[in-house]
Amino acid sequence: MKKLAVYPGSFDPITNGHLDIIERAAALFDMVIVAILNNSSKNSLFTVAERKAQIAQLIKKFKNVKVDSFDGLLADYMAKTKANACVRGLRAVTDLEYEFSLANINQKLNPKMETIFFMPSEENTYLSSSVVKEVYSFGGELKQSVPPLIDKALKKKFKN
Ligand code: ADP
Repeated sequence: MKKLAVYPGSFDPITNGHLDIIERAAALFDMVIVAILNNSSKNSLFTVAERKAQIAQLIKKFKNVKVDSFDGLLADYMAKTKANACVRGLRAVTDLEYEFSLANINQKLNPKMETIFFMPSEENTYLSSSVVKEVYSFGGELKQSVPPLIDKALKKKFKN
């Protein structure tokens, strides 16, 4: 039986930290779906369509990774796609509380839903989309933390 993992998140924008987790998940699962949560209550910098196009470019090198977007509950999306596990990333201990509560709620909604955590490499440990956005919004750049196409997209976004 093929093992399918869903990696949900905002990916606003995708960083080298997310790509680090995708690479680790792709090595363990037969298929990984990077699933962008279409969350209307969250103010996003990039539209879902923009994020989808960016991620599609960046996952071309992986044969077993796809990108998709979803609305509503992750547990429902997991059931719909018949995924075996949900992948999340754990940076420092600060992620733990939030990630544990999320995994716990998802388990209540769908008892068969397993959440698997991956740790990024050290250089991506303190990296988040919000830090990246903050730096670029003030005219800075973090070329070591985002792929070149995201660096360009961020500069373009903040020029407007
Ligand atoms: P969300 O809004 O759901 O937190 P994010 O796009 O911020 O979505 O993150 C999606 C997942 O990727 C989360 O599990 C988050 O902890 C993880 N993640 C984000 N950045 C990193 C990173 N630098 N290293 C490891 N995991 C990360």
